[in-house]
Amino acid sequence: MNAFTLSRGPNREDKKYFTSGDPDTLFSDLQEIGHGAFGAVYCALDERPKSETRGQNVAIKKMSYAGKSEKFTDIVHEIKLLERLRHKNIVRLEECFLKEKDHMVWIVMEYCLGSASDLVDVQPGRLLESEVAQIVRDVLLGLSYLHSTEVIHRDIKAGNILLSENGLAKVADFGSASNKSSANSFVGSPYWMAPEVILAMESGRYTGAIDLWSLGITCIEIADRKPPMFTQNAMAALYQIAQSDPPTLDQNADWSHTFHSFVSCLLKKNPEERFTATEALQHSWFKDNRENPQELVELIDRTKRLVREQDEKQITMQYKKMLRIYKGGD
Ligand code: ATP
Ligand code: MG
Ligand code: MG
Repeated sequence: MNAFTLSRGPNREDKKYFTSGDPDTLFSDLQEIGHGAFGAVYCALDERPKSETRGQNVAIKKMSYAGKSEKFTDIVHEIKLLERLRHKNIVRLEECFLKEKDHMVWIVMEYCLGSASDLVDVQPGRLLESEVAQIVRDVLLGLSYLHSTEVIHRDIKAGNILLSENGLAKVADFGSASNKSSANSFVGSPYWMAPEVILAMESGRYTGAIDLWSLGITCIEIADRKPPMFTQNAMAALYQIAQSDPPTLDQNADWSHTFHSFVSCLLKKNPEERFTATEALQHSWFKDNRENPQELVELIDRTKRLVREQDEKQITMQYKKMLRIYKGGD
């Protein structure tokens, strides 16, 4: 697209990705459930007359393309990519709407409960190793599919892994993805970035192997509650990733030898030595932790209970504060 096309906004070619009509009349009860760089994500009730999920929840990512014209190109890029992906471990895109008047795009997706990062934040302690394995296996199945279609995700981290009510983990957020089997731009979130992405600034291209490195970091993030070097600033972390030995799981925690071995196979600095997604799925860690979506369903239930308890505690605290204010008690 040249600058002239961009200044005109969406053109006819772009418009084929969008359903016509006003989405305001098709979805109700919008509630904000997530926030990202672009805007917000909402949970909404699907009232589309012919929808298979009519009467159920959907997620709507509202993205503004006001201001910079490249924003619209980026949004269409994300939609084009997601549209052709169909896998149980990839968040499903349902439909997109264009609200030209407001310079907004609505991306309607299958509804998930929250991210693996939310899950870790809510839990007071560590997850069980078998729970971590359930999440990681699902992400690998998603990645193995993505890489077979020549897509590199480029932003794998717990915040971009969503959990569904029936106990599946799904890869989400294709805002940084590349639709070629190799790429060279400096894209991703710093702490999760593979060494060759940092070095690609000087030395050429990288492949889907970068997602496996980021998944190794995500294993540490989910298991030990933060990615390595999270207390350092992003620039210092990038320097360390490129210069130092690969990080490991917390050696003082109770993680099994097999889990340590699995993570070290993902965190190989040389991408050629790193496991592919398909190889990683064969690791004995997954033989020790058999596939069991029910385990994630139970973890999600436990998390929901914790959120409710925390909400109630906060209400009680607010109530006590009000009593103090109105009655002057302590
Ligand atoms: P980032 O700032 O990480 O690039 P983003 O702006 O591209 O993020 P997403 O990662 O797609 O946005 O979504 C932001 C958050 O919204 C997610 O972390 C998640 O909590 C929530 N979210 C996104 N999609 C869904 C969905 N389909 N179901 C439930 N929650 C979702
Ligand atoms: Mg995100
Ligand atoms: Mg994003």
